[in-house]
Amino acid sequence: LLARQERWESAARVYPRHLPIALADGDGPYVRDVDGNVFIDFLDGAGVLPLGHNHPELLRAAARQLGVLTHGLDFPTPVKDAFTQTQLSMLAPGLRHRTKLHFCGPTGANAVEAAVKLCQIATGRSDVVAFQGAFHGTTYATTALSGPVARKDAVRGGMSGVHFFPYCGPGRCPEGPGPDGCSRRCADQLERALTDSTSGVPLPAAVLIELVQGEGGSVPARTAFVRRVRELTRALGIPLIADEVQTGCGRTGTWFAFEQYGIEPDVIVASKALSGVGLPVALILYDAALDVWEPGAHIGTFRGDQPAFAAGVETVRIMRRDDVLGNVRARGRQCADRLAPLADHPWVRDVRGRGLIRGIELADPADGRPATEAAAAVQALALRHGLIVELGGRDDAVVRLLPPLNVTAEVVDTACAIVRDAVTVACR
Ligand code: PMP
Repeated sequence: LLARQERWESAARVYPRHLPIALADGDGPYVRDVDGNVFIDFLDGAGVLPLGHNHPELLRAAARQLGVLTHGLDFPTPVKDAFTQTQLSMLAPGLRHRTKLHFCGPTGANAVEAAVKLCQIATGRSDVVAFQGAFHGTTYATTALSGPVARKDAVRGGMSGVHFFPYCGPGRCPEGPGPDGCSRRCADQLERALTDSTSGVPLPAAVLIELVQGEGGSVPARTAFVRRVRELTRALGIPLIADEVQTGCGRTGTWFAFEQYGIEPDVIVASKALSGVGLPVALILYDAALDVWEPGAHIGTFRGDQPAFAAGVETVRIMRRDDVLGNVRARGRQCADRLAPLADHPWVRDVRGRGLIRGIELADPADGRPATEAAAAVQALALRHGLIVELGGRDDAVVRLLPPLNVTAEVVDTACAIVRDAVTVACR
């Protein structure tokens, strides 16, 4: 199967290039390959399956809807309304009352583009501020808005007016951390650029941020930095877009990551885990004051996946019933605790994360450079011992863990032991 896919779809081989398995089926935190090998799945469909694979109650909800209506374009339906109300109910009342919801084409990237378009139309400006190390998708605009330089070559000229600034998080301050972390310097640089008319950065239509960079290497932004960015954007009348495609739906221990920073964005982008089962949904939640766009300004055929809506309503019901957010926080602390001994390893630059986005950044002790090969070796060893992990960050030198949000303490212990052993064996 791997060889056949390589022949027909070689450009899409991102995951199986490092993880050479063909999938047969899944069950909770486990997947089985076509040879019958069972793995703990800490890739979790790229953070898409909050309750793991094939959760029976989610399957029942989706299946019930299959016999009713599968595709509804953008017509209102009872299940779409239930989904919309459920999503809005996850916002604090003050925010909810001034929030609008717009369904976008089925991917996270499409919703990021919708958010940027909305802010451009609402402000009458076109430039966008984004952050180094960010990932927002691989469409023309989102490629331009994302950090890694290599992948941008193909779309040079695709979207102009994107300005990148340092992202303040562990290991990210380009000048090295200041006495109280790097929050002031990164925010100062942004403030200078936005307020000094000679800086070459026109007042942007939006500032676009991931509060925890996901593909960028599981990097939580520092709180002081995020608060300064919010104060600055508010003072200058710049809408702040939080890309919560990966951090949303409880991944960091609150429904949205912004809640932990004590800020409110003007636009929130959500997708990945919304349906709970991997059926595609993407949306933006935005301040009604920005609602200046005409009907049809951002549409698309696949904005009405009814089984996705049904499963999404059920996902939230189960997450509330089973206190899954509490589990995310507890299992996140457990991951931090079990992985902490790695911090003393000479190849480990940083062990970090928030909730159930965790990362172990590897660097060569000889020259401090990102240890790309060592990370790939850790991933391969983990796979051999029954654990699927992702790689991310600069030069793919961060081993990333994205467990399902209802993962048990036992599975976390097993997975962390595999990671610790893999680092010990692969990095020496
Ligand atoms: N934004 C973030 C933060 C993401 O992590 C991703 C996907 N990894 C995207 C946007 C793009 O989503 P999609 O792949 O569904 O287009």
